[in-house]
Amino acid sequence: MVSTKDKIEHHLSNYEKIKTSFSWENVAKELSGLPEGRGLNIAHEAIDKHALTSQKNTIALRFIKKDTNFRDFTYSELKVQTSKFANVLQNLGIQKGECVFSLAGRIPELYITALGTLKYTAVFCPLYSVFGPEPIFQRLSKGDAVVLVTTTALFEKKVKPLLERLPSLRYIILTDSNEHVSDKILSFTQLMEKAKDEFKIPETNPEDPALLHFTSGTTGMPKGVLHVHKAVYTHYITGKYVLDFHQGDVFWCTADPGWVTGTSYGIIAPLVHGITSIIDEEEFDATRWYSNLEKQKVTIWYTAPTAIRRLMRMNIKPIEIYNLEKLRLILSVGEPLHAGAVIWGLENFGIPILDNWWQTETGGIMIANYPSMNIQPGSMGKPLPGIEVAIAEITDNQIKLITEPNTQGHLVLKKGFPSLFRGYLHDEERFKKCFIGDWYLSGDLAKMDSAGYFWFVGRADDIIKTSGHMVGPFEVESTLMKHPSVSEAAVIGKPEPTIGELVKAFLVLKANINPNEETKMDIMAFARREMGPAVAPKEIEFVATIPKTRSGKILRRLLKARELGLPEGDLSTLE
Ligand code: ATP
Ligand code: MG
Repeated sequence: MVSTKDKIEHHLSNYEKIKTSFSWENVAKELSGLPEGRGLNIAHEAIDKHALTSQKNTIALRFIKKDTNFRDFTYSELKVQTSKFANVLQNLGIQKGECVFSLAGRIPELYITALGTLKYTAVFCPLYSVFGPEPIFQRLSKGDAVVLVTTTALFEKKVKPLLERLPSLRYIILTDSNEHVSDKILSFTQLMEKAKDEFKIPETNPEDPALLHFTSGTTGMPKGVLHVHKAVYTHYITGKYVLDFHQGDVFWCTADPGWVTGTSYGIIAPLVHGITSIIDEEEFDATRWYSNLEKQKVTIWYTAPTAIRRLMRMNIKPIEIYNLEKLRLILSVGEPLHAGAVIWGLENFGIPILDNWWQTETGGIMIANYPSMNIQPGSMGKPLPGIEVAIAEITDNQIKLITEPNTQGHLVLKKGFPSLFRGYLHDEERFKKCFIGDWYLSGDLAKMDSAGYFWFVGRADDIIKTSGHMVGPFEVESTLMKHPSVSEAAVIGKPEPTIGELVKAFLVLKANINPNEETKMDIMAFARREMGPAVAPKEIEFVATIPKTRSGKILRRLLKARELGLPEGDLSTLE
């Protein structure tokens, strides 16, 4: 099938055919591997292999600075910079497998650190720059950080007070200091100037640890998730089949590298395909975002429901104001994308928004709506070729696959694919609990319809048990969002002796809507009509905002804790 825009032949032209003939061994053949059979290294696939070809002068990364000027890095320039950084680590005596952290905005030094660390075969862990000191401390200590690359301002404000408690942190490298501050606090510029610009990537076993990512902390304390170099198989194949990268594409992944999406897709996948990525150093701003899409001639845009909802609220029709004729794909991840948003994409950009599902633990996209496939708005799509996904019933640590369509159950993935995490750092017990037999338990609930599309129901932890029904909050929230007065919705189960839990909804109303009893009754009646009395909320509370993680996910556990007067738990990722 061919895209309606640009007439590009999609890589995944025939889902069923490609799925049937797919093998991970064949993916290995499409990757280049280290020269002389020295293994597989993400940084070689992402940079060095292109720097040997005519691709070397292509822009790999374009940084849009806060003042909208930009700084470009070609593949050959990126090769030099990352080789220098690998030599910096060598000169400092860092060992293979040790952990190098970054704490910075989306500046070039972060990306050079990430890829240089992978080259050196140390482990890279990015931290989101807006974290406060305590969450930074927890992650640096849990991750056994030996090097931290950060800016002077972030160091002074957030890291300096922690140093005494971080005895294993050997070096702090300041991206913006021209001089070394002490034996331990060093200047990025000075170190880079003195480092050689050639670096031979050492032998890298595909199973060598590469990346450490902390989860979003939506359901509790963030977990440290470990990935190996072989994860690049998934980065590559999803770049091909889901993001549909072609030579000449300009890709924009809006996620910060502090979240897994911002690394797997904000750094690695587009580079492996030799295309150009743009990176905006500024935070969300609707007008700026639309103008980035236009001015940079973005062809593929990967973003999140939270940003889409904010754009939807602006009530403007972007295609009438901006020239977005180059934009041929919009994708979304991180939270359920309600059907209305998919259709909004169609009406406002001329293309639907393609939802896809994955987690920090899976390292890359697992279920997706593909550009060549019919879209069921509200569905996450179908499994990536090479990935076996099923719905299962789990009782007493026994797993039974459910074959009956449209039946709710646990979303499970057959283990053994390259980017499945290799552990939760320092938490072997918890890691073991994620598996039964051959299956990895995602912790999410879903349904599969008779055509093989997967539909998100909710996180197992968020499921509401009311009068013998299992209610997924997403379903209720999506329906409430259809009411013309409702702008945002979050739904929890509140313990109630006679029915188990009652469905309670927290609603943000649209501007100019009066939060009075009449509005409440009107929404309740609408919900009962749409969903039936068993599922519709019994209680509604109007709120000014809904608590979310910094990556935009609704923190239902926090709403519930507050409702019940219980401790609020880990709030390190609260926006
Ligand atoms: P924690 O594990 O710390 O509670 P988290 O699960 O939110 O945090 P991530 O790994 O960033 O951390 O997010 C993965 C989760 O996000 C998925 O398990 C799922 O619940 C949700 N999610 C991601 N994409 C989608 C999607 N397209 N539709 C519905 N839910 C999604
Ligand atoms: Mg999770």
